[in-house]
Amino acid sequence: MEAVESSIPPLTPAQSETLDLIRLPVEERITHSSDLRAQTLLDLEKATIDLVDYLDEPLWVSKHQLQAVNGCEALYEAQKMEPFEWRLPMTRGQIFHKCVELSIHLNPGRTAFELVDEAFARLIDRNDGLADFLTSISDIERAEIRSEVSSLLQTFFETFPPLRRAWAPTTELPRKVLLHGGKIVLQGRFDLTIGRPDDLTAGRVLVELKTGRAVPHHLDDLRFYALLETLVVGVPPSLLASFYVDAGRVQIEAVDEDLLASSLKRTSNSLIRLMELRLKRTQPERRPSAACRWCPEAADCKNGQQWLSEAEGVGVW
Ligand code: SF4
Repeated sequence: MEAVESSIPPLTPAQSETLDLIRLPVEERITHSSDLRAQTLLDLEKATIDLVDYLDEPLWVSKHQLQAVNGCEALYEAQKMEPFEWRLPMTRGQIFHKCVELSIHLNPGRTAFELVDEAFARLIDRNDGLADFLTSISDIERAEIRSEVSSLLQTFFETFPPLRRAWAPTTELPRKVLLHGGKIVLQGRFDLTIGRPDDLTAGRVLVELKTGRAVPHHLDDLRFYALLETLVVGVPPSLLASFYVDAGRVQIEAVDEDLLASSLKRTSNSLIRLMELRLKRTQPERRPSAACRWCPEAADCKNGQQWLSEAEGVGVW
């Protein structure tokens, strides 16, 4: 699919600011070694070799599993037992992302409301769990989501620079890496990418479009994506960007060898922990946090109850 090239109106101050931040000057782009991909794969496989032969089924790992196992492991184990259910607030991001994808590739362009309607139609056509959920919601719920996503889109259009065909933008770019012949599978899907590497010189920017508030794990998610990109393409991205749509603001991080090394360490440590939990070689750790407020284990969890008491000021002088 190709981006729309049309007459480009002057940028708003917010669009200019975003563009200045996400377009790394050519002289600041790093040229990497040609064996980085092979070396990174080797390092990751060496770090995870001990337990992998005990797995009876492949371990599929995305940013969600990495985030979960770095939070409360007991909650992660409890959630694995619960069937996944779509809820209304979860659909907002899905519909928004679909609208952005359509807005980049449709010619002539559409208004925000038209894009939301197109996105609804496309998502319902997929005949999956989300499609079933979207067809089950009431007219009022649909109108509320339509209004919310249209407002977000309007903010996005006024704060994110229009994407030019020459920048080679892609949406929903999938990445998959097989470790140990497929016993471990790392996967991700990048919301938006801009640019591409030039031989061994980094040039691609990975942009995650966030329709909620900023939380620290967004950085870890993007660093994991930088690792995936390195393992698939062989050249890391030049820049990582989280774009917070409500605020129309972007947070960026340049990718260098230190960042890749720290992402590799977090990923390999998390894989080891995920394998230990899968193989029941360890007890899940309980790490209280704000998640205790909605955790299904909370009623029977001493650590969680203590955290909640303190958070609510009970027993604290
Ligand atoms: S209540 Fe809190 S500490 Fe306990 S399992 Fe749930 S998230 Fe973890």
